[in-house]
Amino acid sequence: MPEDTIFARIVRGEIPADIVYRDDLVTAFRDIHPIAPTHVLIVPNRVIPTLADATASDEAVLGRMLRVAADIAAGEGIAQDGYRVMINCRDHGGQEVYHLHLHLLGGRPLGPMMRR
Ligand code: 5GP
Repeated sequence: MPEDTIFARIVRGEIPADIVYRDDLVTAFRDIHPIAPTHVLIVPNRVIPTLADATASDEAVLGRMLRVAADIAAGEGIAQDGYRVMINCRDHGGQEVYHLHLHLLGGRPLGPMMRR
């Protein structure tokens, strides 16, 4: 069941995570294997498996995810230097957890988006 993703269990408080923000629509927590000094995941509280599954009725939560990412970046002190937000979608996008999540990455120069 999609409700049983590892991130849904974090949202429900069933498994521990370093939660940095939560509200009625989204929860943000630190990635367990960070690839940058700041690596926060922002997820919808209600499971949307992938970005490709989002519908018009999800526009509020999608917008909230981006705004919360910017607020967390400001709070982490990385907004001035800049940061990256990223969503991996399905197989070719390299998505591992099928619960939509936005990666907020920063705290060091991140280089080009992908190796060519
Ligand atoms: P994806 O490749 O699906 O875009 O990213 C999944 C991310 O979730 C990875 O960066 C991985 O390190 C992170 N992750 C996987 N399992 C857990 C977990 O149980 N807790 C936390 N905090 N992060 C996790």
